[in-house]
Formats: sequence, structure tokens, C-alpha cells
Amino acid sequence: MNKLLEIDKKNIWHPFTPLAGGIEPLLITSASGIYLHTQDGRSILDAISSWWVNLHGHAHLHLAEALATQAKKLEHVIFAGFTHEPAIQLSKNLLSIVPSNQSKIFFSDNGSTAVEVALKMALQYWHNQKIEKRKIIAFEGAYHGDTFGAMSVGDRGIFTAPFSKYLFDVEFIPFPDQANHQQVIDQFQKSVADQTVAAFIFEPLVQGAAGMRMYSPKILDELIALAHQHDVVCIADEVFTGFGRTGKLFASDYLRNKPDIITLSKGLTGGMMPMGITTCAEKIVVAFDTDEFLKTFFHGHSYTGNPLACAVANASFELLMQDECAASINRITRQHEKFAEKLDGHPNLHDVRTLGTILAIELKTEGGSSYTSDIRKKIYPYFLDRNILLRPLGNILYILPPYCITNEELSIIYRTIEDFLSGLK
Ligand SMILES: *Cc1c(COP(=O)(O)O)cnc(C)c1O
Repeated sequence: MNKLLEIDKKNIWHPFTPLAGGIEPLLITSASGIYLHTQDGRSILDAISSWWVNLHGHAHLHLAEALATQAKKLEHVIFAGFTHEPAIQLSKNLLSIVPSNQSKIFFSDNGSTAVEVALKMALQYWHNQKIEKRKIIAFEGAYHGDTFGAMSVGDRGIFTAPFSKYLFDVEFIPFPDQANHQQVIDQFQKSVADQTVAAFIFEPLVQGAAGMRMYSPKILDELIALAHQHDVVCIADEVFTGFGRTGKLFASDYLRNKPDIITLSKGLTGGMMPMGITTCAEKIVVAFDTDEFLKTFFHGHSYTGNPLACAVANASFELLMQDECAASINRITRQHEKFAEKLDGHPNLHDVRTLGTILAIELKTEGGSSYTSDIRKKIYPYFLDRNILLRPLGNILYILPPYCITNEELSIIYRTIEDFLSGLK
């Protein structure tokens, strides 16, 4: 075994990976565009944007230069009592593209912390006004991250089982599908009617981790309207859907009724640096905008507003705003739609769905779909052996490429998927 891999095996605990019996990690030495280069000379097509974070390709020079330039100027400074230009510029950039009701941004380090901040902001919003509202509503199947607050508002399942007793109570409403529209509305209406609901948190239009489950903006618009009628703070978790993933800059752009709080991460820095952002509407700010010390939002992280991450996020923003990027997103969307049409009615498939740059293919499995589904163990190595990184969610195969992927590269993925499907019984 390679010496480095030996040390890795001995010292390192990888995320979402069993310590025994798992697959050996691949040693990546460099990356460029949509390719990951291994130590033993392979180039692997990253069809899932390295866990949904990469927008413009790996080791992008524009981002790398922004990072290097900033590192030589100001690498970090405490963000309480101090500020800097990269953070200020990023606030301008983000507020120019998020829904126009958003008025302030709060920094953290990842998607889970952006969600923690959102939940704490929403709860303290009521606390500061001395209004007793405690309930939080979320969707069944939700995923909002791995910290305790984020786990609490997420679906309870095998991943949260060891902690279930430590998670706070949340009211879960059914995930909206074609058939249960009225039931979801009715249940939501009943929940918000007693005026004790503090917040409603949702992944707008698509639940990523639940298997790229998609639902209509129409019902979400209705739920937000109902929530607002009853003074419920609406939190859109756009950690996954932000920055063009769904075809528009934000999934919230498909909505008429805008959220009060938005969480961002993943694509925020184009996939180069860890950073989370929570934005909020003026309505939320007002409850904190006072010189009463105890109404301060007492939350922060050592690396809050890190200048390096800000500089890279600004560089990624510049690329995202170019016409070419929008054109690429449109092109990928069209290609996905064409391929989905081609697969429609395939005997081995339960469903094929697309939204923007996301294509999800749900395979038929015995005994329904599940994360632990055996098919997963077949899919991952099948594609990796063919130098394509596709990491299925149970029986759901999905493509979520960096926006710089070419049509030829997309065709290679599509063709390999067709080959895989035709090899299934
Ligand atoms: C990934 C994800 C998170 C958590 O983000 P991390 O950076 O992994 O902590 C939260 N919400 C959604 C919708 C996500 O997809």
C-alpha cells in the first residue's frame, strides 16, 4: 500500500465512512476543471461537484489568484470590533443577488452553522420581543446539517438515531407531492393557527440529501403565505440550492413570497473555501437593532468573516455573474432535460427528474428506496471504475456537475449511465 494511504488509514477518520470494511480512499494529488487527478495517474470526472460545492471547476485560476493575493495582504482578523474590504465587498455582492427583502448578512463557516445561526436568529427574534413562540416546523425528509440544531430540524433516521434523545422537538409536515397538496396545506394551517410557531425551515424546491426530491414552488408559496399570515419566520435553507444550482441564482427566485432568512454555503466560494452565510430581512434586524445589551445576537466563530474565504467568494461571484456562466447553466439544464426525456419510461427506473443543473435518476429497488439499499454498493464502484465520480443517495443516482462541464463530458456520463442501466436485470 502507498505510504501516505497507510498513514491515512492509521490516523484519519473520514466523514460518513465506516472505519472498518469501507472502501479505500483515493489519493488525489491535483485537480483541474472537472477532473480529479489521482496519485496513480487517473483522471476522474467529478460529476457531483465534490459534494455539491464546486461551481466553476477545480483549482480555478481566478479563485486561486484571489486567494493568494488576499493571503499576502490580510489573512485573518477578529471580526468583532474589526472589519475589512473583502467582507464588505461580499456583503454588497450577495445583497445584490439574493431576494431584495434581505438586508443583512451574518458570517459563519459552513452550511450547518449557517442553519444554526438562522434558527438562533429566528428564536431570539421572538425572545427579544418577549413573545412566547417556540414551535419550529420542518418537512419530513429534511436535511439541514449535522450539528445539533441542524439535526433537530432534519429528518430523524439512521444517521441521527444515536442522538435522538438530545434533539429538540420539531413538528414535521409531510413532504409535498402531486397527491397530498391539500393535506399538507391543511396540516400546516392547523399547526400555525395557534400562534405558537416561531419558525418554518425548508429546503426550497428540492431536498438534496433526501434524494433530490423536488416539489413545486406553488405549494411552497402557499405555505410561506400562510406562515406570514400567522407571523412565522420563514427560513429558506439554500445551502445546496444557492448560486445557480436550480437554474436560477436561488431557488427562492422561483417564489413570489420571499423567505425572512436565507442560509448559504456550498457554492458560496465556488467550492474553494469553507464559509457559511445567513442573510436576513429588515423585519428580523429590527428586533436586534437596539442598544439594550441583552438583545445582542451573541453568536460568533473564531474565523467569522475570514478574509481569504471572502476574497474567494467575491472571485466566484464575478465568474457567476458572467454571461458565460448563465449560458452554461442553461445549456446543462437543456442537456439534462433531453436525457431525462430519453430515459422516461425506462423499465429499471422508478422516476427521472431534473431541476436546473440537477438530474436525479431513481432506480427501482426491491423493498422500496433506502440509503442502505444494496444497489448503492454497485453504482459507486461501477462509475468510479470508469473514472466518473457519482455518489448515489441510496437508490438515487444524480448528476450535479460544475458549470464548466462540456456537452461532450455530459454525454460521457449519460452514456455510462445508460450502459449501467442496460446491465441491470
Ligand atoms: C449540505 C447541506 C447543509 C449542511 O452544510 P455543511 O456545510 O455540510 O455543514 C445544510 N443544508 C442543506 C440543504 C445542505 O444540502
